[in-house]
Amino acid sequence: MKEIKLFINGEFVDSSDKKTFNTPNPATGETLAVCAMPTLADVDRAIEAAHTAFYSKEWRSFDQSKRSDLLLAISEKILERKKDFIEMEMLDSASMIRKAKADIHNTASYFKVMSKMAKSFVFESKDEQASRAGFSTNYRQYMPIGVCAQIIPWNFPLVMAGWKIAPIIATGCTSVLKSAMETPVTAMMLAEVLKDVGLPKGVINIITGAGDIGAHLIKHPKVQKIAFTGSTAVGKEILKVAANDVKKVTLELGGKSANIVLDDADLSIAVDGALYAFLYHQGQACDSGTRLLVSDKIYDQFVSQLITRIKDIKIGVVTDGTCGFGPVISEKQFKTISGFIEKTKAEGGKILSGGEKINSGEFSKGFYIQPTLFEINEKNTIFAEEIFGPVLGITKFKTDEEAIALANNSKYGLAGAVWSQNNERALGVARALEAGTVWINEYHLLNPGMPFGGFKQSGLGREMGIEGMQAYLEVKHLWVSEANKRSDKVWFDAMF
Ligand code: NDP
Repeated sequence: MKEIKLFINGEFVDSSDKKTFNTPNPATGETLAVCAMPTLADVDRAIEAAHTAFYSKEWRSFDQSKRSDLLLAISEKILERKKDFIEMEMLDSASMIRKAKADIHNTASYFKVMSKMAKSFVFESKDEQASRAGFSTNYRQYMPIGVCAQIIPWNFPLVMAGWKIAPIIATGCTSVLKSAMETPVTAMMLAEVLKDVGLPKGVINIITGAGDIGAHLIKHPKVQKIAFTGSTAVGKEILKVAANDVKKVTLELGGKSANIVLDDADLSIAVDGALYAFLYHQGQACDSGTRLLVSDKIYDQFVSQLITRIKDIKIGVVTDGTCGFGPVISEKQFKTISGFIEKTKAEGGKILSGGEKINSGEFSKGFYIQPTLFEINEKNTIFAEEIFGPVLGITKFKTDEEAIALANNSKYGLAGAVWSQNNERALGVARALEAGTVWINEYHLLNPGMPFGGFKQSGLGREMGIEGMQAYLEVKHLWVSEANKRSDKVWFDAMF
């Protein structure tokens, strides 16, 4: 059994009151790791360590080239230990083995891309436009914001930890990261990697613990920025706390993404795309395509093919590489999903497939639920609300304009997709969508060099891409006038 400690000031330590909790393997219910449960004093200690590290000569001496080297070393170390990472991610977060493999590789490649960005980013530049006035020289200087509080959810534990930690190192900030209580294992393995590559102590501190630990962390006066990934409800609470001290905030929140199939789509590819869009990781992805909008011209054929494909899906335990679908993360999540299914049935949503739990034989221990298809309209609760499970609502449309209006009829705006054999037509629809990422004939793929985040209540700010790095930087205007040129001083002429 694994032992998960707290990573504070470069050391793996117990909680100050020695309390622990067990984290289970969601597929079996068996204890996977015993984890240190931090106290509020431990959180304060972690923030002090991050604060001291931020102002330390050692971390300041890491210029962008040295920080870039660290990021590359982290990427390489993750790949060296990929077998361990894959195994633990699979067991801790109920990730199917193929998803766990993709997550580990994606995290390593993100650190590599950030390494390049850290090296090439221009932290100070002369602004020729502003200098043209002739009497001053103007510079843009980017400085690290300071100590950051970072909070992540349970669905992509290592990926989310990577998305948070890489820009901290790239920019020269410091951080205390809290992993979700359900999935603390791989974030702590990442801490081992950080120690191995020689990250100065205190730069990154990693703890776990429940929401109260997160709430205490973000309130601390030494925290300058909060980066949160999780539900919109908690995101709103965080925004209120941040407002008290005008802390900088990045929020990556929920979604109800529209997946639009136009009448000229390649049917078999679009059917597979629709499956992947809503069933990846049992539907527990923030950008899942959970509102499927299908042209009425192809609706019957499309839906019948989708139902056939769903029945073919091999459901299994996470370690079985031939399966693409497994258990959801916890009993709590299972109950939430079941609740939405019952509500949609009661509202008159037509069930096309699934809708039941699976609890016989090898599936009796984990929390398995059938992939579920509903025919719905805009009035159904699941047209509006995020479920975070394998439930898809399908709605018919007549014209491209109607599809756009349906897609944009949402408080969320995280992602979406358009399926068509005419890229120009699809781009026309995609450009009109109010969402942070829109794929054409694709789904879920992310490019670490491009920004990711949400419109509307799906979030604030962006992660990844140059925008994700700038979210950890303050920009300063440096103005330099010649010391001995009194006649050029415009304020003197204007005032006196
Ligand atoms: P939650 O918002 O419940 O929790 C997210 C994290 O916040 C957890 O670490 C949790 O701790 C912590 N937390 C809970 N309450 C507070 C609080 N008051 N103050 C500070 N921290 C707190 O989300 P889930 O874990 O249920 O994750 C699912 C949600 O995350 C979905 O809505 C999904 O869309 C969103 N998400 C968004 C992504 C994006 O990039 N846009 C990516 C992935 C998920 P703990 O749970 O340990 O108690």
